[in-house]
Amino acid sequence: MKFDQSGVDALMEITSRPELVFVRGHGSWLEDHNGKRYLDIVQGWAVNSLGHCPPEVVKAMNTQANLLINPSPAFYNQPAMDLAKRLTGASCFDRVFFTNSGAEANEGAIKLARKWGQLKRNGAYKIITFDHSFHGRTLATMSASGKPGWDKIFAPQVDGFPKAKLNDLDSVRALIDDQTVAIMLEPVQGEAGVIPATVEYMQGLRKLADEHGLLLIVDEVQTGMGRTGTLFAYQQSGITPDIMTLAKGIGAGVPLGALCAREEVSVFVHGDQGGTYNGNPLMAAAGIAVFDAITAPGFLDAVNERAQQLSEGLLALSAKWGMKGERGVGLLRALMLDRDDGVDIVNMARDRAPEGLLLNAPRPALLRFMPALNITAQEIDQMLGMLDEIVGKVRG
Ligand SMILES: *Cc1c(COP(=O)(O)O)cnc(C)c1O
Repeated sequence: MKFDQSGVDALMEITSRPELVFVRGHGSWLEDHNGKRYLDIVQGWAVNSLGHCPPEVVKAMNTQANLLINPSPAFYNQPAMDLAKRLTGASCFDRVFFTNSGAEANEGAIKLARKWGQLKRNGAYKIITFDHSFHGRTLATMSASGKPGWDKIFAPQVDGFPKAKLNDLDSVRALIDDQTVAIMLEPVQGEAGVIPATVEYMQGLRKLADEHGLLLIVDEVQTGMGRTGTLFAYQQSGITPDIMTLAKGIGAGVPLGALCAREEVSVFVHGDQGGTYNGNPLMAAAGIAVFDAITAPGFLDAVNERAQQLSEGLLALSAKWGMKGERGVGLLRALMLDRDDGVDIVNMARDRAPEGLLLNAPRPALLRFMPALNITAQEIDQMLGMLDEIVGKVRG
């Protein structure tokens, strides 16, 4: 197949992309327009929790597409209710609103917290978020994010997102005033370079929120749905958040997200929240297939075994090449490089022959690993071998 330059010219240019067109995928492997295969450790940025084209999701969507695609959010549909019950049954939350993306789920969380502030906290509206955090690309979620430079690109920002420092409780305490309504964070900062909030920190935030009557919001768009080795990352610190957002892995590649809240916080009234596609049965059917796969007996045990294997393999590589170690939780991990050659490694790995390797370098001296949760032990070994070879070439 030829590379389609006229197709490229018809798309808005929003990022730099290699001259490759991916045509099919299966499990941890992708194939491009030349028939070259790639071991995919990016998986659409932790989106394809079950790898490419997981058969159970394909089947569920096929079946649902033949039954009903979208009756409109003005009516109930069974898949949306079934998925909501699964999520509330497996978490500390009582109510779910389905969205089409992580940004939209977070936008909903921000609205819900502000509404709660109007009703219960005298109009308090500020939500404390964190330096280097990432919550999405709508105006409000960009304002909530702590990505350097994002305060200027589409100025003026949406007001009310003071920034604290992750794993520094005093920096949060110092920002609390009578306009504060919530604290919102990623249990593991993903885009920032896989930086986990410590268990003590999560517990400290819960305590601080309780002392001041604030809501605690966890953005589990990247960490949720088994990515960190438990169904939700917040469960590892034994706390009860008030609101949680999900997306990415919950749809295994299709646009699905969820805003989950405890009963006391579910204060939307008719007209406050909605959307044409929200909770449509086609996406909900995909979500059910994903949920059932991830919660099947043994699935998360395997995730934790693979995580251990990946962690040990990365540590060995780090020791061999004089790098700075690895970190992460579950199958969301990072290798800290000793120099800024992350992008060179990513490019060389992709261009490797006969098989390529797809990696991600969210920072110049850091590689991020977010494989399919069902990646095999053999594929992890294969990836580690390829990576070792590439590092040798880049540094040779
Ligand atoms: C990816 C991500 C988002 C945004 O999700 P989209 O579906 O891309 O809108 C929000 N929060 C976190 C933590 C993310 O990783």
